[in-house]
Amino acid sequence: MGKIWDEKSIREVFEELDKSTGLSGAELPIYFGNAKGTLGCFIIKNGPAFRFSDHWFKNSEWPVESALDVIRHEYAHYMDWSENGYTSHGSSWKTCCIRVGAVPSRLYSEGRSEYYKNKHKKEEDRLAHLNKYKTGQAIEHPQYGTGIITVLDKKERSIIARVDFGVKGIKALDLGWIDCNCTIE
Ligand SMILES: [Zn+2]
Repeated sequence: MGKIWDEKSIREVFEELDKSTGLSGAELPIYFGNAKGTLGCFIIKNGPAFRFSDHWFKNSEWPVESALDVIRHEYAHYMDWSENGYTSHGSSWKTCCIRVGAVPSRLYSEGRSEYYKNKHKKEEDRLAHLNKYKTGQAIEHPQYGTGIITVLDKKERSIIARVDFGVKGIKALDLGWIDCNCTIE
């Protein structure tokens, strides 16, 4: 589960980072290219700017975490250049990475991308398994007894069910928890 990144959404990430660093990365130009091998770069010739690869940033299959890694990696270059005057993957850059939450490694890792893809896939499978629960359905809770699901609220990574247990009240319960701990009537 990824997203399509555009200039605006990347700039929003930079704005957040600027808040913690006091720098102005969000004001720099952002360009897009099509390179597969270079996911992003911080450019200093003709003035500081960022460039990102549309091949990846416009690919909705590419995990959000990987995109954030690349954005923060490039921001750390900008930061290292602004604060220390360096343009390498040296120790001051690594310190910048740690400050902005980027992985302080020079190369983009396919392994990490696969990891996130699988993680998202598992989450989707798990949520798909919860499709059997509908509003109006009765469940048996180990403590509260019989309740009726009145609302299913889908969050990004979970589903919260509001369950009416009559005199015991209405409870908000994670549907995953219900699936493990309650029985369907
Ligand atoms: Zn780099």
